[in-house]
Amino acid sequence: MSSIADNIGSVTRRIQKATLNAGREPGSVRLLAVSKTRTPEELRAAAEAGQVAFGENYLQEALDKIAALSDLSQIEWHFIGPIQSNKTRQIAETFAWVHSVDRLKIARRLSEQRPASLPALNLCLQVNINKEESKSGCSLEELPELVAAVGELPNIKLRGLMAIPDPDQSEAELRVSFRKLANTLRALRQNHPDAGPLDALSMGMSDDLEIAIAEGATWVRVGTALFGGRPPKHSQS
Ligand SMILES: *Cc1c(COP(=O)(O)O)cnc(C)c1O
Repeated sequence: MSSIADNIGSVTRRIQKATLNAGREPGSVRLLAVSKTRTPEELRAAAEAGQVAFGENYLQEALDKIAALSDLSQIEWHFIGPIQSNKTRQIAETFAWVHSVDRLKIARRLSEQRPASLPALNLCLQVNINKEESKSGCSLEELPELVAAVGELPNIKLRGLMAIPDPDQSEAELRVSFRKLANTLRALRQNHPDAGPLDALSMGMSDDLEIAIAEGATWVRVGTALFGGRPPKHSQS
């Protein structure tokens, strides 16, 4: 089994190669280490190998790890899981980024509950790009209105869009999904110039990060390729 440090090296090289192949600026794609179900020791090993951004899906699990790793002040915490409205306060108080907001009510609470001592919360809107029944995310049709409203919130910095495309799609279909998200962000940036930077596309995971980078990803969210396989999904929130 290869070490977490080795895996960070090889994923970083994959990102660099894909960025170069796409003719994009070096450094324009960042690696978000998806650390759900991983122990604080595994995260610490990744941080010691230079990893800065970590993405967590389950709030209580995340808070425990954030406490255990509080000596590592360079870590940037991202929340990427479904959000219930009774969890917004702790998210607003703890994270630098949230990738998984799909309705105005949640964004409004995050803005209200963001402590004044912290910079604005970086936020991506999650889009259900393949209209899957079971998935969170707003529809493409809802986005313009949502962007206009979220763009007005004082303690939110609206960075862009996030999607988790249907993994059963072919490579060609995945590419179409990523391209659709990128084109949507471009149109939103044009039509809502005051809503926020709208400069972030959170898309691509362990198996498809090259395709996502070719289509404009600025964050790839990678779990398995860094930390190995996960045990079957649990239902903690
Ligand atoms: C688990 C997860 C990932 C990482 O998936 P891998 O296939 O393990 O790289 C990315 N994004 C989200 C939202 C996730 O929940």
